[in-house]
Amino acid sequence: MTTPTDGTLWRNWSGLVEARPQQVLTPSSVSAVVDAVRRAREQGTTVKMTGTGHSFTAIAAPEHTLMRPEQLSGILEVDREAMTVTARAGTPLKELNLALERLGLSLHNMGDIAEQTLAGATSTGTHGTGGVAAGLAAQLAGLELVTGTGEVVRASARENADVFEVARVGLGALGVLTSVTFHVEPLFVIEAHEQPMGWDEAIDSYDEMTAASHHVDMYWFPHTDAMMVKQNVRTDLEVGEQEPPSRLAAWWEDELVSNTVFGALCRVGSRAPDLVPRINRIAGRALSERRYSDLAHRVFVTPRRVRFREMEYAVPREVGLDVLRECRRVIDASDWRIAFPVEIRTARPDDIPLSTASGRESFYLAFHVPMDTDHTAYFGGLEPVLREAGGRPHWGKVHTRTAADLAPVYPRFGDFLAMRDRLDPDRVFANAHLRQVLGD
Ligand SMILES: Cc1cc2nc3c(=O)[nH]c(=O)nc-3n(C[C@H](O)[C@H](O)[C@H](O)COP(=O)(O)OP(=O)(O)OC[C@H]3O[C@@H](n4cnc5c(N)ncnc54)[C@H](O)[C@@H]3O)c2cc1C
Repeated sequence: MTTPTDGTLWRNWSGLVEARPQQVLTPSSVSAVVDAVRRAREQGTTVKMTGTGHSFTAIAAPEHTLMRPEQLSGILEVDREAMTVTARAGTPLKELNLALERLGLSLHNMGDIAEQTLAGATSTGTHGTGGVAAGLAAQLAGLELVTGTGEVVRASARENADVFEVARVGLGALGVLTSVTFHVEPLFVIEAHEQPMGWDEAIDSYDEMTAASHHVDMYWFPHTDAMMVKQNVRTDLEVGEQEPPSRLAAWWEDELVSNTVFGALCRVGSRAPDLVPRINRIAGRALSERRYSDLAHRVFVTPRRVRFREMEYAVPREVGLDVLRECRRVIDASDWRIAFPVEIRTARPDDIPLSTASGRESFYLAFHVPMDTDHTAYFGGLEPVLREAGGRPHWGKVHTRTAADLAPVYPRFGDFLAMRDRLDPDRVFANAHLRQVLGD
């Protein structure tokens, strides 16, 4: 464990949340985590293990002791018979992806970046789109955590199954995860097809596209009819037969157009909001159709260098397109000028009590603004539409919901609270955000 440092400023990726913990620890072993938790409990203080701070909410904000994940990283075990891989919980997802690639293995699905830690990503219900499992937590086969009383608990479908069921999306409220075990599959190749589409065509063909492709991701450019649609299909191409974009093409699309030019357009849009609709039309047109194939994780993950603030909600799949139309109606009727595309994804149901896809097919709508832009009118203006549709906010993204109004959209909310009382009776892992979304 490194020497505790006092008064260090902690800030999340989007810059929306800052905290000055009283001390910072970087534990390198399970026993160091146990010691820190026991000490905090004795002193009546709190401990917060953070990931890489990619959550937009204050869910990872420390109040007393901040624990950093850097020394709880690396692969622990590969079980080729069970097709599982166990890694320390602080391992960045991108490192797991590379290690799995070297082993000829892969996760089934993931979100659109891989900077996060494994524990941070699973704890907030991080998801991609489509696939056998959209959420990373639904791909877990086991976990190990240090509870609020300093006990080390291993959990899987066979061992402490009640803990496993709930702690997969634990919000950092049930314990400090020290390792996680993922179900994996042989490394596979995805064929990617990205194409600009008009609003009507995209909406009308959405069900068909999601039935035909394993992973569909759509981006709508507000104030325009422009959509960018990504349809990714798993192929039976052998590894080595994939045809990734040339380095120049990848740099052009992913770095220059999607990051550098987009970032510059956002800055212009911030200074001259009236230009935003025109800028969005240009941005929508700048992205061109392309097809390529590549290893799954390289298709799922894209560089995101323009910093932003985000709100994302999951609504029942069957009302998703109507909710999207209603959001468009509200945006069109407003005087907001939204430079960032709205992202649209889907997920299969899972059985994790606080997963946003718990027990229902889900349709995700994600809204963004540049990091230095006030989001309150835009997000606040759409939140009632999403709430009305039975929406569940992403645990790591901006929202204003509280325990009282989250409980009705999660049939097993009470099971989570009971598990919290059992595993963290003294609230060693509490912070202001958890008090808001779970209660005291
Ligand atoms: C650019 C960007 C792109 C994103 N893309 C997606 C996406 O495609 N899909 C999606 O669903 N989300 C996405 N997110 C959200 C992101 O995946 C989540 O917010 C995730 O929680 C971030 O992981 P982290 O490692 O930064 O964790 P943090 O934000 O640091 O922490 C999140 C939570 O995990 C807890 N935690 C961290 N480590 C541990 C541990 N060892 N034990 C117990 N609890 C722990 C923290 O206490 C906190 O409660 C994106 C965010 C950004 C900024």
